[in-house]
Amino acid sequence: LTQFAYIASHDLQEPLQTISNFVGIVKEIYAGKIDKESEQYFNFITDATSRMQTLIKHLLDFSRIGRNIKFQNVDCNKIVKEVIAELNNSITEKKATIASGVLPVVTGDPVELKQLFQNLISNAIKFHKKNVDPVVNLTCEEKPNEFLFSVKDNGIGIDAKYMDKIFIIFQRLVNASEYPGTGIGLATCKKIVTLHNGKIWVESKLNEGSTFYFTIPKKIITNPSKSI
Ligand code: ADP
Repeated sequence: LTQFAYIASHDLQEPLQTISNFVGIVKEIYAGKIDKESEQYFNFITDATSRMQTLIKHLLDFSRIGRNIKFQNVDCNKIVKEVIAELNNSITEKKATIASGVLPVVTGDPVELKQLFQNLISNAIKFHKKNVDPVVNLTCEEKPNEFLFSVKDNGIGIDAKYMDKIFIIFQRLVNASEYPGTGIGLATCKKIVTLHNGKIWVESKLNEGSTFYFTIPKKIITNPSKSI
């Protein structure tokens, strides 16, 4: 799957760019000379092409996860602080509150772990309930062999029957116009956690918020699993 994702996304980019360029040219040539309906059809093509370009870019990013994995000591407090700083615009825009308990230093890849926190925190902000400001809580519990992290939100929640489905690539439960996205974020989280030999799952109730849990084993992993 990883190889397929890489090849497909790499090779699909070029013809898609050609479609995008030529639709742009045709649109310019016919600007003002075609009726509203035809103009709308051109816009459908442009929007679909641009969405497919985004999907392919994300698929390519997804296929690259773990290619340069380097395990080292990672201070999770530091990376969460960086993630919060980088999400500053959406935190301010959505009037979100992000609280974090003291997090541990784990053995892992700093780039991938940052991506993991980034995806979970940005989802916790994004999937907020209308007219309810997002509140996100991060905690970590030390277990004998692993660290158990949680990212809790007060958002729209997830129906029990979809709780496994959301970790599959491109699976989304929401309308793209209401909640933009491509459905790669949680598949990415699962791939990163699996590369660290951990587990990821969610506990949630529709309309009552969600808590995403993941574990990172304490034992140093020298030969991490490369499965998705
Ligand atoms: P995206 O964010 O691009 O939609 P993800 O893979 O991150 O893709 O998430 C997949 C789906 O899981 C989302 O479309 C949404 O339906 C659901 N989801 C993810 N995180 C949350 C959350 N914190 N609260 C409610 N639903 C969520």
